[in-house]
Formats: sequence, C-alpha cells, structure tokens
Amino acid sequence: MNEENFQNTQNYILLKIENYLRQQADLYGEDLLFFNLPNSEEAKRNTEKDELSTNPVSEPSMQTLFETEKNFSTNGGRKIKPKTVVEEEGLFQPVVDKSWNIDPNWNESQSLDELNSKIKNCLKCPLGSSRKNFVFGTGNPNAKLVLIGEAPGADEDEQGEPFVGRAGQLLTKILSAVQLSREEVFICNILKCRPPNNREPLPSEIEACEPFLRKQINLISPKVILCLGRTAAQALLKTNASLTELRNGVYNYSGIKVLVTYHPAALLRNPNWKRPTWEDMQRLRKMYDELE
Ligand code: SF4
Repeated sequence: MNEENFQNTQNYILLKIENYLRQQADLYGEDLLFFNLPNSEEAKRNTEKDELSTNPVSEPSMQTLFETEKNFSTNGGRKIKPKTVVEEEGLFQPVVDKSWNIDPNWNESQSLDELNSKIKNCLKCPLGSSRKNFVFGTGNPNAKLVLIGEAPGADEDEQGEPFVGRAGQLLTKILSAVQLSREEVFICNILKCRPPNNREPLPSEIEACEPFLRKQINLISPKVILCLGRTAAQALLKTNASLTELRNGVYNYSGIKVLVTYHPAALLRNPNWKRPTWEDMQRLRKMYDELE
C-alpha cells in the first residue's frame, strides 16, 4: 500500500470512528466518556445508568404532562434533571457591553423583525467574527410550534437561514409527514452563528446566545417547543440528561410544553433512528391537535 492509499484508509477509519462516537454521544451524552473507569464514582454512575435503562421511563399521559421530570434519577448527584425553566425577564435588566455590537435596547423589541435588526451584528462571543451570516430563524412569528436545533452548519451560514442543507430537507419531510409545513412553525437554533467545522457549541457560547433565544420564544409565545437533538434539549432545559432519557418526557419552559427528538443530521448518520423519530412526531402531532 503506498503512502497516499494508507492516508486515505486512515482518514476513512477516523471518519467512521468519529461518526460512531457522535451517534453514541447523541444517544448517551457524556456518560460515554466514563465507560472504562473502574472502581470510580463514574463506574458507580454507569451502573445506575444501566439500571435506569432497564427500567425505562414510561410515556406520560396528557394528564401528567408536567410531572414527568420527577421520574429522573439524580444519578448520585451528577445527573442534572431537566429544569422547569421560569421566565426571569423583568427581574434583571441585561447589561449590554458596547463591544457586543448590538442595540442596548434589544430586549425591548416588540417584534421578531425588530429583534433581528437589533442583534444581527452581534459580536458577543467569538463566533460573531467567524460567521458568514447571522442565522436568526424563520417561519411564522405567531407559530404554536417552535423547533430548536443546535447551531447553523455550513449551508445555513452561507444562506443565513436555519435547516437548509440535507438535514434541513429531511426536517421538511419529517414535518410534512405529520401535516405540518415550515411556514406554519418557527425554526431556529440555540446559537445564531456557526461554530467552526460544525463542532459542538461551547457552554460559554450557549450562555452568551441563550438570552436572544429566550426573547424570540417570548415574542412568538408558542404552545409547544420541539428540541432537535441532545445539545438543543440540554441547553434549553439546563440538564445533562441523555437524549434517550430526554425523549421520554414532556417538560416545561416558562409554561410552554417541550418535547425532544433526534436531530435530522443524526438521522442521516443513522437511519435506524427514523422509526423512533416518527413515534416522537406522532406524539407531537397528538399534542398539537389537542391545543386549544
Ligand atoms: S453565537 Fe450568539 S452570542 Fe455569539 S456572536 Fe452569534 S449571535 Fe452573538
């Protein structure tokens, strides 16, 4: 085997390993990192995690929507169960640093368009300097359903719109399978700017950008939020629970019901997850139909 072939094979194997690790992280979260640490606190926690997975949380009835989080194990204090996120607006007026390059009165915006124009040049975190386009979100400003993904990818960064690449096309199909259109819902991400090489958002970036998302949700005032993927759900619900656990519940974000399913990009990597996604979407559709 010549050197070029060797390099290609090596890259191929590394790509396969990366895809595998991403799939495992999508399913099990950061617990994956602790699998081989015997006699440690982590080993104990993995045992508890195994016990949890053999006693799956049953799907809640509509009557017990907001009691689901009681089913979460604290796993020896490490697992942070999803929080009931309560609106803090009005308690503290956010301080705006001039270097962020946003309108100091952004939080007073009365519409999505106004908010967009006031924050679209944001440089609050380093991603503002590397983006091509700010990706605010698109859809119905009065949507009953808001879909939240992780962050813009290359296509989204190029076009300034969320979910326009292959994963976006799949999302459109998933929505139409439950008789929903992109125009009927609002679609956005936890982050408004693309992380380099599509890496996962850093906690500091999520913390910097999250107030903008909270304001968007406040202006839209949806009845239901669907988190697409582990990162979006963990960031919104302020938890480190795994996607497997999160998909089983219905949560509360300032009085708005929150469901969690796979990110469409994860479905492209692993088509076996289309079936459970379909079940999640049927549950979402049922809830959507029961909204007043
Ligand atoms: S990711 Fe959010 S906080 Fe960071 S620069 Fe972009 S808009 Fe601002």
